[in-house]
Amino acid sequence: MPLDCDVFKLFDTHCHLDLPELAAAQALHWQQAQQAGVAALVIPAVQQSAWQNLLDLQKQQPHWHIALGIHPWWAAKHSPDALAALDKLVTAHSSAIVAVGEIGLDFALDEATFAIQQQLFTAQLALAKQHNKPVILHHRKSQPQLLAELKRQQFSAGGILHAFSGSQQQAMAFIDLGFKLGIGGTITYERAEKTRNTVRKLPLDSFVLETDAPAMPLAGFQGGVNTPAQLALVFDVFCQLRPESREQIAAALWQNSLKVLRLSAA
Ligand SMILES: [Zn+2]
Repeated sequence: MPLDCDVFKLFDTHCHLDLPELAAAQALHWQQAQQAGVAALVIPAVQQSAWQNLLDLQKQQPHWHIALGIHPWWAAKHSPDALAALDKLVTAHSSAIVAVGEIGLDFALDEATFAIQQQLFTAQLALAKQHNKPVILHHRKSQPQLLAELKRQQFSAGGILHAFSGSQQQAMAFIDLGFKLGIGGTITYERAEKTRNTVRKLPLDSFVLETDAPAMPLAGFQGGVNTPAQLALVFDVFCQLRPESREQIAAALWQNSLKVLRLSAA
């Protein structure tokens, strides 16, 4: 466990604390995360059936922020009333919902799902635009298509490009549209040289941290369940790649998280 007593406040901007792998011991995971320096997190929804639970969780724990949306993996089976229901909840709970997410396009899935994914992403992005909410974007083999839709809709509310991996050039296209890059366990793998280089080279205000727990275990933890406490290890590796002091980095990442999610405090 990373219990090195850093005084830094870390923000896990992507943690699925509501999924079964973590929900069974949710309080324990939060306690361990706090001991590791995690002072706030975002729980993005993956499907409609999660939304009410997330609204309830957010009420119980002020340091847990929520995003509502439908993840592309669940796009093919979303119900016809989902968008109207999302619109209603974002209207009714606008201050509790920091973003629309997790939404996006996953072109590693079966090609038969592409049309419905695209249709759902387009609609959810339009909904976020209408409510002036940032978005949390899932991408796999889909960065050009996501960019094209963001530009087509002239989407200007920004958000987080979750689980960023890629070159500086790919990163800049999203940063120019008001996005932060969500940096997680990927950088703990030395073979991820392109992404590690992007972390080295871009300005510090380009980034936020995330675990994507229970998914994306860090190097050395493959096959295990990822947890939000592991954010401290992502932070350690991030600091190794940067020239600034740990204090400066922690403060900047915290501010970046607040800014992109439009929180005055977390
Ligand atoms: Zn996710």
